[in-house]
Amino acid sequence: MPTMWYELDINDRFVAVSEDWNASSDMLGAPNNVFENIRYLPVWDFVAGEETQRFLRAMFFWVRNKRRPIVLPYQLENMGDASHFRMRIEPLHQGGLLVSHDPDDVPGGAPQLLPYTTKDLTRCSQCLKINIDGVWYNAEPESELHECSDWRVCPDCKERALNLVRQPTGAPVARYARATLGKF
Ligand SMILES: [Zn+2]
Repeated sequence: MPTMWYELDINDRFVAVSEDWNASSDMLGAPNNVFENIRYLPVWDFVAGEETQRFLRAMFFWVRNKRRPIVLPYQLENMGDASHFRMRIEPLHQGGLLVSHDPDDVPGGAPQLLPYTTKDLTRCSQCLKINIDGVWYNAEPESELHECSDWRVCPDCKERALNLVRQPTGAPVARYARATLGKF
């Protein structure tokens, strides 16, 4: 799958997306997210879970404030062995952000399947771990995705992001990158 990217303005609203956006979002099961429908809408309309929003807002703030890119690994559900992705958040001029999503080649088999069918499913939005009675398990639910009632961020993913922020590896962006605008 090619790289998907979107450009956000200073208020986190979609102002541009990669040319293949419509086909890619359809492949990922979001057919209503064609660019014509999301233009100038805040990205937060599409981020489920208060804790996930707070987590990503903190990342956005850091990237804008430090003018450094950050790359966060994450997983998508129902993608099998191709579930690993990287989200790169990069500062643009005038407070904008370029957010790109790349497939990440991570070795390893399918996660252990736990027989977990409650309707009150709590998962980590970054690594898809499941929280059962306060413990995070690396597992897939047997139930459907729509039964996940709460997307949170597990301690491991928070710790990993904190380490990235404390020890940034990417150089500060001196010359602002500019996404190549396609037909939009
Ligand atoms: Zn996690």
